[in-house]
Amino acid sequence: MRRRVVLKMLPACVLARGGVASAEGLVPAFRGTPRIAVGGIASECSTYSRIRSRMPDFTTLRGEEIFGAPLSQPLHRYDFDFLPTLEASAPPGGPVERETYERLKAEYLERLRKILPLDGVYLAMHGALSVEGMEDAEGDWYEATRAVVGPDCLLSAYYDLHGNLSRRCVDTLDMMTAYRTAPHVDRVENVMRATDMLTHCLRYGIRPGIVWASIPALLPGEQSSTEWEPGRRLWSDLAEYNRLPGILDVSQLVGYVWADEPRSAASVVVTGTDVGEQSRIAVELAERYWAARREFHFGTKTGTIEECLAWAVASRTHPVVISDSGDNPGGGGNSDQTFFLAALLKAGVRDVLLGGMTDRPATDACYRAGVGAVLPLSIGATLDPAMCRPVHVRAKVVHLTPVTRPEDGEAVVEFNGITATLSAKRRFYHAAEAFRDIGLEPTRFRIVVLKCGYLNPTMKPLANPALMALSPGAIDQDIVHIGNYRRRPTWPWVADLSYTPVPYVSARVRRG
Ligand SMILES: [Zn+2]
Repeated sequence: MRRRVVLKMLPACVLARGGVASAEGLVPAFRGTPRIAVGGIASECSTYSRIRSRMPDFTTLRGEEIFGAPLSQPLHRYDFDFLPTLEASAPPGGPVERETYERLKAEYLERLRKILPLDGVYLAMHGALSVEGMEDAEGDWYEATRAVVGPDCLLSAYYDLHGNLSRRCVDTLDMMTAYRTAPHVDRVENVMRATDMLTHCLRYGIRPGIVWASIPALLPGEQSSTEWEPGRRLWSDLAEYNRLPGILDVSQLVGYVWADEPRSAASVVVTGTDVGEQSRIAVELAERYWAARREFHFGTKTGTIEECLAWAVASRTHPVVISDSGDNPGGGGNSDQTFFLAALLKAGVRDVLLGGMTDRPATDACYRAGVGAVLPLSIGATLDPAMCRPVHVRAKVVHLTPVTRPEDGEAVVEFNGITATLSAKRRFYHAAEAFRDIGLEPTRFRIVVLKCGYLNPTMKPLANPALMALSPGAIDQDIVHIGNYRRRPTWPWVADLSYTPVPYVSARVRRG
């Protein structure tokens, strides 16, 4: 409010200059309070999964509900109102059912139309959305948005660094930013980068644009950590590039490898007002990323399921925490595969905590039987029976979480020296708290098997040691062997691929 009072006191000739020129004197191109819509759709969809994300899988925030979400809190910092529409997000999984996407899009657009005219739209996205029968779902969402808000409205997108881009996306957006950390601990900062950029441009009358360099290289997600090299150094200095004149944001995306689509690739995206400088940075960072591609590696010792089990049994320290990485729901895995469980039973390994098996019928059966009951259970392979076979055991129910809806059910069962969590829907058992909340202490077991990739910060210090099984699944980390039918020529599938970065300037900039 104080800023507006000061502005009213400035001579009209200063205000009239507007645009970037006035920004030099920190004098905004004041032209009333900008009207900014908030909305978006976010998920990470493995095209290798036979599961479909449908309406019940989405958390859909409508209108003012959006401002109650933790990631919307930074929006309250501004001295003008954001205008809420619809924000939909689903946990990582398979492609989104077409009808679900169309319904969400139609409601979002309807809400957008009701709050016209708009100066800007802040889009909370992810970048790895895949929709049945659709090419480039984010591109579709942006084009539909643009058709409603018109050519002069500024669109700013928020991305995960495991997102893919296309010319269609770049040609429709005005600015974007992405996480600079994996595991993603900069979510709040990412919101702030996206919204600061947008509000800054609207206040100062700046029209930025995107320059993009697509890099034909993809990595398994678990190699993309920024906690070790080369990820640590490749992402650590992006903020320095941000400070250069004419630059608003520099982002680097590893892409999402489990989307077998033409657009799937790594990227450098530079938002700014100086196309020459943006292009120079895009080429420099794309060359740097390409040169480092062979350095990426897993942060823990990896092996097959059987190798990891043998190492765990031989270990003198405990608990050995093993990631069943191909079935990690955090990256789009089913979380109901039985390959690891079958191997445990076959090897007769005991004193094991197995976290994260999704099975609605088995969970329901445990609730019907009650705590203390012993019952025959078929475990796993209910979401995707084609992928693997269920495992049949006699299990004792030792815990049932009190719930009001069966779909939230969560049980703990014991059988053959294994303590396993069962849940009615796909959920993460990555954090130590997820087990402690249901009376299980991970450190009391010799071996802990988790359906995850790199370990959660609360689990990592407990692992003694950590191992990662390169298990099969919808997010198979052994990417050289995954189906690769629709992608453009990409490293590592084309081992001798040569690459020279070519910066692509958004059509929004080229139109002048
Ligand atoms: Zn991610």
